[in-house]
Amino acid sequence: VCPTGALTEKDHTNQLIRDLADPKKTVVVQTAPAVRAALGEEFGMEAGTLVTGKMVSALRRLGFNSVFDTDFAADLTIMEEGTELLERLQKHLDGDKDVKLPILTSCCPGWVNFFEHHFPDMKDIPSTARSPQQMFGPIAKTYLADKMGVKREDMIVVSIMPCLAKKYECQRDEFKVDGDPDVNYSISTRELANLIKQANMDLTTLPEEDFDNPLGESTGAGVIFGATGGVIEAAARTAYEVYTGKTLEKVDFDALRGMEGIRSATVDFDGLPINIGIAHGLGNARKLLEDIRDGKSQYHAIEIMACPGGCIGGGGQPLHHGDSSILKKRAAALYREDEGKAIRKSHENPYIIKLYEEFLGKPCSELSHKLLHTHYFDKSNEIEIE
Ligand code: SF4
Repeated sequence: VCPTGALTEKDHTNQLIRDLADPKKTVVVQTAPAVRAALGEEFGMEAGTLVTGKMVSALRRLGFNSVFDTDFAADLTIMEEGTELLERLQKHLDGDKDVKLPILTSCCPGWVNFFEHHFPDMKDIPSTARSPQQMFGPIAKTYLADKMGVKREDMIVVSIMPCLAKKYECQRDEFKVDGDPDVNYSISTRELANLIKQANMDLTTLPEEDFDNPLGESTGAGVIFGATGGVIEAAARTAYEVYTGKTLEKVDFDALRGMEGIRSATVDFDGLPINIGIAHGLGNARKLLEDIRDGKSQYHAIEIMACPGGCIGGGGQPLHHGDSSILKKRAAALYREDEGKAIRKSHENPYIIKLYEEFLGKPCSELSHKLLHTHYFDKSNEIEIE
């Protein structure tokens, strides 16, 4: 059951099997950060066992033409969202009364759906940056398709997500071009486990393989998106360096980590205190939003995730039955992967740098806005999806 309480699971497994069998289609896949920290549980492995390489190996054997990483798109999200944060912050510091702070993260469709229904008067506060899933799609169907020599209509983009709300996000009209979704559909972690089992593969014995490039390279910042506080920590790593022009020596922001439902921390941007709020679970999010509505919020930026623990506790993950020790082990796995990465700041990802040089120009450019940003709707008169 989706912990957002808003969605019922829709299975795209049969569609995927048909697409993989179609020789006219180029089927590429992206895998969200939280999946690698939980997929192993479906094969009897200890919670928090990282199976990144084995997962890539399984996906290749299932028949995907290329196996990419949503973490790459998470790095891209930081470039866009971090730039937006700094632009808004600078205007605020310059005394612009029209600028809206705090900026709210926008990568969780469960949360986006919630504020469109319950706080539509505040729909200009969240970042306009699309979620990593929805940034990956248009880059795959333009930049990558061009490099691969594949027409948009012949490319199928599939995502493996810890999340059921991502299925609905793929189908939102603003994420389609002439009716063709940027991300065709999303498969949950549990559905992927079933597919691997149906193919008679044992994940535990598969070799470790690397993602394909150019959309498979990511930094540690992209990895920690999967845990509550991770998006804002990743943003802080980049925003600090861009704002101060200095190198951030200690990239771990311990104050932003943890499992309390609402957390606050102040990050020092070289003398400028940035107040950050974090909420996971929609009840907690509601409290922070009501403070904003009442003019009581002191935050510059807030990260909100609908699920307990963030995406590691998503509704498409192996069931954890409310056992928070499992969520902590999954989160620890992501922080371990982050620590082991050679590059841990999104703006240093060489393939992201190349993407801007070759295609997008710069963060928040006209093309970036067209492909990578979105807008929100007042859905207060619509029935919330069940
Ligand atoms: Fe999906 Fe993650 Fe949001 Fe849960 S927190 S609804 S898994 S995006």
